[in-house]
Amino acid sequence: MARAVIDKIEMTKRLVAFDTTSRNSNLALIDFVRDYLDGYGVKSELVFDAGGQKANLYATIGRDDQRGIMLSGHTDVVPVDDQDWHTDPFKIVEKDDRLYGRGSADMKGFVATLLSLVPELVKRKLREPIHLSFSYDEEVGCIGIRTLIEVLKDRPNKPRLCIVGEPTEMQVGVGHKGKHVYRCHVHGHEAHSSLIHLGVNAIEAAAEIVAKIKELARRKRDQGPFDHDYGPPYSSIHTGLIHGGTALNIVPRDCEFDFEIRPLPGDDVPGLIKEIRDYAATLLPEMRAVQANTDIVIDEISAAPSLSTPTDHEATQLAAALSGANGTIKVAFGTEGGLFAAAGIPTVICGPGSIDQAHKPDEFVALEQIIRCEAFLQRLIDRVSVS
Ligand SMILES: [Zn+2]
Repeated sequence: MARAVIDKIEMTKRLVAFDTTSRNSNLALIDFVRDYLDGYGVKSELVFDAGGQKANLYATIGRDDQRGIMLSGHTDVVPVDDQDWHTDPFKIVEKDDRLYGRGSADMKGFVATLLSLVPELVKRKLREPIHLSFSYDEEVGCIGIRTLIEVLKDRPNKPRLCIVGEPTEMQVGVGHKGKHVYRCHVHGHEAHSSLIHLGVNAIEAAAEIVAKIKELARRKRDQGPFDHDYGPPYSSIHTGLIHGGTALNIVPRDCEFDFEIRPLPGDDVPGLIKEIRDYAATLLPEMRAVQANTDIVIDEISAAPSLSTPTDHEATQLAAALSGANGTIKVAFGTEGGLFAAAGIPTVICGPGSIDQAHKPDEFVALEQIIRCEAFLQRLIDRVSVS
């Protein structure tokens, strides 16, 4: 069958042209990738979200009786809303040896480079398989990949290691902090503000909990634990969003706020949350003395574990050999790697472009980075091929 070969730059253009902002369906992109792989005889497995509007794509190239190596990327991108772009974010513009477009660095450049090597991969006789994993909803808390991990984790041939192609400028990332997001809802009781003794002020209770969270944040800052490969070198905690009340002359019934913990690998998140919950519980007797059905509810919204892969692990050694990097880095951003590692798939991070350009207007990936990524993947293919 005659087939036009799509090179890495053309493939980046095609992928960026799909507006896969996390709030949108990614199915148009997934269908395109599935059809592309199909054209090379590679079957895709799609794992959908509950609504059937988004999907992860998983495909194995080569023998399926071996665990093999997984190459992983997310298909969604962050919004361009309210950003001052100088070009159309969904149309790649090539300028000054850079490809400008939303997702060019984070991380369609990697996915595209990988896809452009599929024709090469299917030609070679592989000693162990290469698995492709393309997820949805990474940017909103590493949500999508979880359903795929559920499918993979008990398979005898689940990947023996994984490389996530998030932008590290092709350095080898072995660690990142986790990210745990919580929402606290204080259910108070409404009253006219001249009669505060009849009301339960939800904002004030929330403020006390927020102050407690700040106290824990200071404790982490001052007492650690510390890892100076990270900036900041401690687990960070903060409150980022708060809504409460309706008018000044009404004792507010409801207040809701979101806070997050970004723990260093190994730090005790359950212990911190227990401390916050225990503190919140001390506020309840006073609230309930006024109105019995008041409450404070703290829900976990998302939890993405940290990543900490040993520098002497075979995944690290492999990525270092392929990239030619000496030394490893720890990255400031979270990835799906922590979830893979927790599921028994040791993971390192190595991909083209810089996180400095990710999520910003005029996001770009340097062509030199794409070329280095291609060389990295080419060396991987050579290494796993019989000849
Ligand atoms: Zn990313």
